[in-house]
Amino acid sequence: MLDNSIDILKGIGEKRRSSFNNYGIYTIRDLLYHFPYKYKDITQKEYFSDKIDGDEIVAWVKITSKPFLKRKNSAMNFISFYVSDGNSKAKCIFFNQQYLLKSLNKDDEFIIIGTIKKENNSVQLVNPKIINPDETTPNIITQYRLPTTIKQKSFVKVIKNAFEATNSQLIDSLPEKLRLNYNLCTVNYAIEHIHFPVNLNALNSARNRLAFEEMFFFILVLRKLRKASLNKKGISLSASDNDVSKLLNTLPYALTKAQENVINEIRYDISGQNKNIHVMNRLLQGDVGCGKTVVAMVAIYISYINTYQSAMMAPTEILANQHYEECKKFLSPLGINIALLTSSMSTKDKNSIKDDLENGSIDLIIGTHAIIQSGVSFNNLGLAITDEQHRFGVNQRALLSKKGNSPHTLVMSATPVPRTLALILYGDLDISTIDELPPGRKKVETRIVQSNRRNDMYKYISEQVQLDQQAYIVCPLIEESEKLDVLSASEIYTKLKSTYFKDISIGLIHGRISDEEKHYLLNEFTIGNIRALVSTTVIEVGVNVPSATIMVIENAERFGLAQLHQLRGRVGRSDKASWCFMTTETKNETSLERLNIMTSTNDGFIIAQKDLELRGPGQFLGMRQSGILDKRVLALISDYELVQSVKEAADKAENGDFGECIEDLVAEASNRYSRKLKDIVLN
Ligand code: ADP
Ligand code: MG
Repeated sequence: MLDNSIDILKGIGEKRRSSFNNYGIYTIRDLLYHFPYKYKDITQKEYFSDKIDGDEIVAWVKITSKPFLKRKNSAMNFISFYVSDGNSKAKCIFFNQQYLLKSLNKDDEFIIIGTIKKENNSVQLVNPKIINPDETTPNIITQYRLPTTIKQKSFVKVIKNAFEATNSQLIDSLPEKLRLNYNLCTVNYAIEHIHFPVNLNALNSARNRLAFEEMFFFILVLRKLRKASLNKKGISLSASDNDVSKLLNTLPYALTKAQENVINEIRYDISGQNKNIHVMNRLLQGDVGCGKTVVAMVAIYISYINTYQSAMMAPTEILANQHYEECKKFLSPLGINIALLTSSMSTKDKNSIKDDLENGSIDLIIGTHAIIQSGVSFNNLGLAITDEQHRFGVNQRALLSKKGNSPHTLVMSATPVPRTLALILYGDLDISTIDELPPGRKKVETRIVQSNRRNDMYKYISEQVQLDQQAYIVCPLIEESEKLDVLSASEIYTKLKSTYFKDISIGLIHGRISDEEKHYLLNEFTIGNIRALVSTTVIEVGVNVPSATIMVIENAERFGLAQLHQLRGRVGRSDKASWCFMTTETKNETSLERLNIMTSTNDGFIIAQKDLELRGPGQFLGMRQSGILDKRVLALISDYELVQSVKEAADKAENGDFGECIEDLVAEASNRYSRKLKDIVLN
């Protein structure tokens, strides 16, 4: 039934079917799992006086002035009138909806839903939705994202037909015992009340159940992937302490205890001594600047000693370049032949590198997505590393590994994810954590700068830069945008160059300049010829210029906390005191609260935890997982505890606590994700 095409339903003809198909909705299942993105409980009366500009409102109102029509010109007319919510008044305006005039009269009562515009003491609503409640009106009004040709009202009818067609006979894919154990409603109830909630409680149970289900099957798939890698035959990459110290002795610093620990974990995994693990699948988490690169270098060196090739993939050319330079510095002297592969290179250069990779004369390839393209093959890949993995999807990670015959894989991330969530997101990985920064690092002093102090800040920075400091100035957009009142990189660059930074060498870097030029500018900045770098977020991940000590983030409220933390992590990379200034014009309390978290701590794990609490797992994960957990379902996950119970349920299911069903459940899970994970071998 569920897999039938939607055109077996009443009211769906050829035209509608193709609108839906173009929208990704083919089957009855697709329809039923197309959830509303918004709900309004119209029984909860709201009042104009409790709302601020920009808020949504559901108000029960009465018309207090005779509605009249005004024609501006042949293309535009509007109806306007006043309404009262019993306490105060608001003006309603409807553009080009002349037909409404007939049905609107003084003293009429109805419900309006709309966005409040507040100026001084006047309240306005433009084109609000009008609802005349009768006995068939639901208490909770839903809103769906839809193809433009399909109206909300008629979609609700289609969903009704679809649900009736299933006759409440949806098959529950969760075992009953599990369902009861975790207090989850049946799938029939969930689907019914996600679309037609009788009240908010019903809606919450529906959401809870559907989010639980999605995460549950997701975990099972990840675990299956993990088991598959456990059973593979692994390559043994072993090295004596003596070997490893050949590299370590050339470093200008001693490793931190945390770095030593994770290096040991990795060495144990890849050596083949760990009887539980044949192929390493490890996530290396650690705050920005904790020194993950050197850990990767040790692993690469061990792979080299064992005559295997290694690959390191980074999300941006800047970062790939930087790793290339760093590895050349420390690994080339030990005999390792290193090459860089990025998509901006000439075809000729690319081809010659591809040849050398294939014949085995290159020991280490560093690059961007270019290294997972189909033309790239290895002689014997033993170690696959992905840096800043939150920028890549699971598939891309897997594509790199598939370039070899079960190579060990190490993925690195500076975007910490609280432990419980990590277990869900990275259920297929073991996790190593570097929880300490190299000694001598100073906390980056962080301040919020309101716009009226911005010029003082520039003046201060220009003085500091003329002394001996170096600064980044990061902006949300590249060019002036009329729509958004955001400071753009080129605008700021021009302004600073003609004012406060007139006598200072400054550079401008953004996504639209060539990679060669980016590389050149960054290099000039690194060696100190450029003192201040105005930039977009292209420098967000990984960029390492230890002499930079000042970070300005313009319109900081536009960035997520994780991103702010990443950006701030570009400074404070030496023993010099560093500063981060976050400029903002916002007066919004939630935004300021978020920015205040940044001023109160430098610890990425605490920031991640707070971010999670503030935004809920749905949004928190949505930001980073370029991926496979269904977006619609992510939006349902509002409760952190839910994530914990899902994990527990998965453990119990594997234990057989819910009956002999684990194979069926895993099959269901693979089936659900097979499309999304098609590049990963599921069996
Ligand atoms: P991330 O973990 O953010 O990738 P990096 O590997 O780029 O950090 O390291 C940041 C900086 O810290 C680099 O300049 C690196 O040389 C330096 N570094 C790494 N480990 C240590 C250490 N144990 N002591 C001192 N400096 C270190
Ligand atoms: Mg890094």
